[in-house]
Amino acid sequence: MNIQKIVRTLILTSVSLLSITGCSEFFVRKANTQGAFNAADVVYDKDTYPAVVLGGGVGGMTASVYLAMANVKTLLVQGGMPGGLLTQSLSVRNWPGEIESTGMAISDKLLAQARKQGVEVKAEQATALDVTKWPYTITLSEVNEPSKTRTVKALSIIIAMGACSNYLSIPGEKEYWSKGVTNCAVCEGSLYKDKVVCVIGGGNSAVEEAHYLAGIARKVIVFVRGTALRATDRRKDELMSMSNVEIVYEHAVKKIVGANDKVTDVVVLNTATKEEKTYPMDGVFLAIGFTPNTAILKNVVALDADGYITLTNDQQTSVLGVYAVGDIVDPRYKQAVTAAGDGCRAALQAHTFLMQTGYKAPHEATTLPASPAAVVAHAEKGDDIETKSVVPVIEKEEHAYAPGVVHEMRSTQEITSLVSDSKKPVVIDFYATWCGPCRAFSPLYKKLAERYTGKVTFVKVNIDNLGGVATNYRVQGVPTFVFIKDGFERDRVVGGGSSERQFAEKVESLL
Ligand SMILES: Cc1cc2nc3c(=O)[nH]c(=O)nc-3n(C[C@H](O)[C@H](O)[C@H](O)COP(=O)(O)OP(=O)(O)OC[C@H]3O[C@@H](n4cnc5c(N)ncnc54)[C@H](O)[C@@H]3O)c2cc1C
Repeated sequence: MNIQKIVRTLILTSVSLLSITGCSEFFVRKANTQGAFNAADVVYDKDTYPAVVLGGGVGGMTASVYLAMANVKTLLVQGGMPGGLLTQSLSVRNWPGEIESTGMAISDKLLAQARKQGVEVKAEQATALDVTKWPYTITLSEVNEPSKTRTVKALSIIIAMGACSNYLSIPGEKEYWSKGVTNCAVCEGSLYKDKVVCVIGGGNSAVEEAHYLAGIARKVIVFVRGTALRATDRRKDELMSMSNVEIVYEHAVKKIVGANDKVTDVVVLNTATKEEKTYPMDGVFLAIGFTPNTAILKNVVALDADGYITLTNDQQTSVLGVYAVGDIVDPRYKQAVTAAGDGCRAALQAHTFLMQTGYKAPHEATTLPASPAAVVAHAEKGDDIETKSVVPVIEKEEHAYAPGVVHEMRSTQEITSLVSDSKKPVVIDFYATWCGPCRAFSPLYKKLAERYTGKVTFVKVNIDNLGGVATNYRVQGVPTFVFIKDGFERDRVVGGGSSERQFAEKVESLL
């Protein structure tokens, strides 16, 4: 072992020890000045990346765009929820530059942006990280076939794996998620101006959510399971003194009731008397916490008591060359724009780190598939596309579809650009070849496509070919018909039980 290797081994051992003892900031500065991470020593193969981004939400996608723009070959590992949590929002009104959009449309654009910059995107998830030896090793498994695994080497890593909402697991919660039930007052509170809403929870976040909503809603009821609020006295007292806030102790919400895709009531149990009471309600805000997705990161990077990754210097984790962004580091704000800001910072920090290791972007010649359609097909198959000197540009589809015909969507890109660009309303039929009701409904669907020719575009998506699209549209069964106007979902029908008249009424409502 040469001297340089011995020094590096010693320093890497120190990383683990220091990350445990929480002294990593000192170490990070020392290591940089000693130049212990020497890119010239790295043996590159096709699975060695200067940067690997773990997480396909807003934070991860933003980081990957910045890295690719700096000519750093970047692998973006999307995990099981491409687009991340924002895809759950049907109405985002605080994303800069968009007056109103669905979370899915924002995520789709970000993904297209990342791909256009040359980011290699994979439907895989990280199952283990080894940061005891540099370049670091990441074990990945395919999202749809977890038994298929591989390892990649990374000179730098950006962790953007988000946090999962905690749920009550009560009837109505999933059904009305984002249709009256949510966990983010800042995101969706403005929809409840002069309405009656409730906050469920008794901790600091419940108090903060209630404060925020009290400035918008006519009435805010806080349902607390216990006998007291667990928050700072000052914020608690301020909340209790607000005239439009009612705090109901020893009450647990047992059921959320709704009609026509809207919440109408909550059924609440008095835990002391065991009596149930129904409260008319327009919106339900869960404030029962989040679980950061850090299960695989224990003993890898330093975490706080709640499992969030702790940072030492902007987005730097306790391990040199490893950065973290978005909800996985942020118990407080949890916003798309803060995740994006973190992603930018982390990418620039990773870039600086790479430069300090002596990393130089190679400028290999690249052979790309000839047509844009082939690029899309490759991207969807998850094939590697080397993108150093040639950037794969996915051109816009023309949507010059024959009138009166139901068009089979061939790629995520095709459906995404159709939905965002089409001047006409679009109806999407999510189907599967093995689905009897899908086949049974198909002639009627074709008939309606003919009837509304020139006015509405009717398309179909085979969920077995374009599973990512179905996930993005939160399709839970087939057939599911989604009615879209001006890029927004306006309605949906689940199942093939509609009569011609009922279905036609839905189509008419788009015109
Ligand atoms: C209903 C709802 C509405 C919202 N509305 C708004 C809004 O209007 N405005 C706003 O600013 N914010 C909103 N938010 C919050 C916003 O969505 C989040 O703050 C933001 O998505 C956080 O981005 P992120 O990249 O940190 O994580 P996420 O978006 O959660 O993405 C995490 C990513 O990590 C991936 N992942 C997880 N585990 C692994 C693994 N092991 N390996 C690889 N990848 C993995 C997942 O697949 C996912 O792609 C809303 C949230 C919800 C739930």
